[in-house]
Amino acid sequence: MKKILILLFTVTIFANPLSQIKDIKRNAAALQGLKLSLIEFKENNLLWRMLLVLNPKKPKGAFWFLPHDNENSAFDSAIYAVKKYGGGFLAVVNGDRRYNRGQDPNRNFSYSKVRECKLQLEPSFIYTQKVMEIINRYKAPNMPYLALHNNTNRGGISILKNSRYTKSFLAYPKEVVLQGKGLADEDSLIYIAGTSPAPPKEKVAKLLNAGLNVKYEIISPQNNDCSMSNFIVLNYGENYYNIEAQHGKTAVQKEMIDRLMSVINTN
Ligand SMILES: [Zn+2]
Repeated sequence: MKKILILLFTVTIFANPLSQIKDIKRNAAALQGLKLSLIEFKENNLLWRMLLVLNPKKPKGAFWFLPHDNENSAFDSAIYAVKKYGGGFLAVVNGDRRYNRGQDPNRNFSYSKVRECKLQLEPSFIYTQKVMEIINRYKAPNMPYLALHNNTNRGGISILKNSRYTKSFLAYPKEVVLQGKGLADEDSLIYIAGTSPAPPKEKVAKLLNAGLNVKYEIISPQNNDCSMSNFIVLNYGENYYNIEAQHGKTAVQKEMIDRLMSVINTN
């Protein structure tokens, strides 16, 4: 009898497609007690697979979107967030790769084809509708739209870089940022977004006071790139935060989650 039970158990484990996902294997212990489901749909010959993770004790709360499957610290930090604050997250499952057959999941948000979105290969109504439906189902009304990403050491995304459409606000003196440690590191930053040339002063001040570097993205329909930040601002208002930390800096990203949550919760 015992043998049969063990056999049944083994078969169930191997038959479960969730057990094949590396992010889940790596976090098997941490994921205990959370509710996992796999979501699959097709659009334009692309198969999209996404993992929905919910805190069954408090499924409505802070809800995070993780478009890039190669960003492991973001995934591990999302589990921490969901256990601590409730809510859940939706993560694209794509064999640890950033692009799904050439399509960046974070350049795929629009209800109809947008000419400006150069990195969107095909119209993506189904993708956008599915992702937004899930986010809006589990995001508490008082919560903003949230995303988690990882970036490379001193790469294209840095608090020390500005562009025509981004403005940086340092929470630490530049010489401290240059030391590259923890929250002060140039790669540790919170993205906010809006349509004005400058962000709301009070919003920036709160984040800076919490020790978080802030990058403001200026968004307009003419400059839409079909990323989540652009889609949220153009369709749902200026209610978006993205926590960026360097690949591998999981402890830093968790600390950033705690500090952002404290800022959001005191609003
Ligand atoms: Zn990313």
